[in-house]
Amino acid sequence: MIFGGGRFKPWGVPIQIDLGSSSPRKAPEAKGLIVGIDLGTTNSLVAYARDGRPEVLKGENGETLLPSVLEIDASGKARQIGQGAKALRGSRPEDVLFSVKRLMGRTLKDISEDARRQIPYELVDDVASHQVKVKVGDRLLSPIEISAQILRALKERAEKALGQKVDRAVITVPAYFDDAQRTATKAAGRIAGLEVLRVFNEPTAAALGYGWSFEKPGTIAVFDLGGGTFDVSILRLEAAVLEVLATSGDTQLGGDDFDAALAEAAWNAFHASGLDLDTLDAAQQRHLRAEILAAAEEAKIRLGDVTTTEIRLGPAWFAGGASADKASFTITREAAEKLWAPLVDRAIERCRSALADAKLAPADLDDVVLVGGSTRLAYVQRRVEDFFGRKPNRTLHPDEAVALGAAVQADTLAGNDSNRLLLDVIPLSLGIETVGGAVAKLIPRNSTIPTEARDVYTNHAEKQTAFDIHVVQGERELVKDNRSLARFKLRGLEPAPPGFHRIEVTFRIDASGILGVRAKDLRSGKAHEIEVRPSFGLNDDELFAMLESAEGHAEADARARELVDARVEAETVIRAAEKTLEMSGHLVTAHDLAEIRARLVDLRNAVQGASPEAIHKALSELDAVTRELAELQVNNALGQAMKGQKA
Ligand code: ADP
Ligand code: MG
Repeated sequence: MIFGGGRFKPWGVPIQIDLGSSSPRKAPEAKGLIVGIDLGTTNSLVAYARDGRPEVLKGENGETLLPSVLEIDASGKARQIGQGAKALRGSRPEDVLFSVKRLMGRTLKDISEDARRQIPYELVDDVASHQVKVKVGDRLLSPIEISAQILRALKERAEKALGQKVDRAVITVPAYFDDAQRTATKAAGRIAGLEVLRVFNEPTAAALGYGWSFEKPGTIAVFDLGGGTFDVSILRLEAAVLEVLATSGDTQLGGDDFDAALAEAAWNAFHASGLDLDTLDAAQQRHLRAEILAAAEEAKIRLGDVTTTEIRLGPAWFAGGASADKASFTITREAAEKLWAPLVDRAIERCRSALADAKLAPADLDDVVLVGGSTRLAYVQRRVEDFFGRKPNRTLHPDEAVALGAAVQADTLAGNDSNRLLLDVIPLSLGIETVGGAVAKLIPRNSTIPTEARDVYTNHAEKQTAFDIHVVQGERELVKDNRSLARFKLRGLEPAPPGFHRIEVTFRIDASGILGVRAKDLRSGKAHEIEVRPSFGLNDDELFAMLESAEGHAEADARARELVDARVEAETVIRAAEKTLEMSGHLVTAHDLAEIRARLVDLRNAVQGASPEAIHKALSELDAVTRELAELQVNNALGQAMKGQKA
């Protein structure tokens, strides 16, 4: 491997960005007990492969899931983690923390408005540490510390269940997690007293969990609908390679939305039946909403077994004179499914887009595996079956698949399994900024890694002695619509006219998904001082937003791009024409000279406008009148050169 996790930098270019892929490095020498952990937004699990057979490790009451919810005390420590804390969720917004995974490796501005609205506890930007923090009382807690407490609880669970010390783990993350998010996850593990041997992609783990490995070739879709997020991945297993063909998803779609849809219907029904909700103060309303939401989740789960169920308000709410029938809302499974249909539509849309990216039809798949607690809903299973045209695989508990796969991977790392080679794709295109704020894509999204791409660029400005390399990630045509990953300067170029320098930019992504960027002056070939200022990694909410917006803006983008390109071309031509006039204007008649000047004015005006067509038209008109001058100039130059040779 040429690049290894930021240790060896062949070009001395310190940009190392993990692009959201995972691939095994060499297995560690030491053998021992390593667990697999699914650190989920909603629920977390720990699993272990005993004699090669992965199993989820249970808590004291036989439970498999540990809700990723913490009740924080005044010292910033968790008073309780899991089911007990979950029961307080919503009603105690200040000190009951959940969905902390959404904050991992993020700054406050990375977190979308939508995501922020769903988080009732207080968030602050900690400039010093470049991360968002949670304010509980007068304490600031980092998402890393909070996640570490969940991991510690899982470690303890594992140690109790196995009766042995557990000090190493494989932790899963969404495929689109970037370097900052993966690093944060690793850091959380370390704080919890776990050496994190690998952060591993959830869909890949799920596939392993379902028993897919390279020994069993095929193409599978992993449909993961959890509590707050939806991910779909298309994987291909072939000749010792597990390749991620495409990923898509929605970071704001999950079981929570199913609960919210039921809760809203209940709230409206209570309201319509005359229950006086408006006289409640803000704190009471919050309590009531939290209670209805919790009841809605229970009702949702009950609807798996029964066709009609009820959401009842607790006796505390009867004080306002409500009678028992007013405090109860009845809903059928059919009615609930109607409420959920638009949510599942969104997930199916993402499946369509992932398949399109992978250039596959549903019939090309050999299996569809279900992951995430929300795929326990028969309605979701039916819609998945309708779309993919096949019964989804139901051989596992869908909410355990990821943890089981992580345990399989842990087992491999422990040296108990043969080597596995995994190939991933990069989730977003990578390129650099070129003149006029356009993006030159070097590596298109969904490229299989490892990969390498290079291109040669030239200088646009007069006497340019430094070259700005701005690395961007995203699907849009203009830099301003994409995500900035890093910037650096290639300095010490000799001052030269536009178009003189030849700067070769190379992007290389290794098997671990680490990006290296090199800029080299091909003329001098000499070493250049390079400054790098890595920006923060990519925000997962933004990732999907960017993908979505690229789809919606393709046409406008293409036009904006065309305009930028036309302007750049026009400016180059204008400069060249001016230079030619200056040097060789005397070679043409006064009439021709006036004509050329007029066309130059037209072109300058066109550049000011917003129509690429007008620029192209002015360009070709200028070209027509300058052609003769150009010929004269060439002949003249040749004449001069011959004279010079003779002399
Ligand atoms: P995450 O991956 O986000 O941590 P999970 O995969 O554990 O989450 O999924 C949690 C979601 O699954 C919750 O919204 C929960 O209500 C839902 N869920 C769990 N069991 C069921 C069930 N039997 N029927 C419907 N939804 C369920
Ligand atoms: Mg999950």
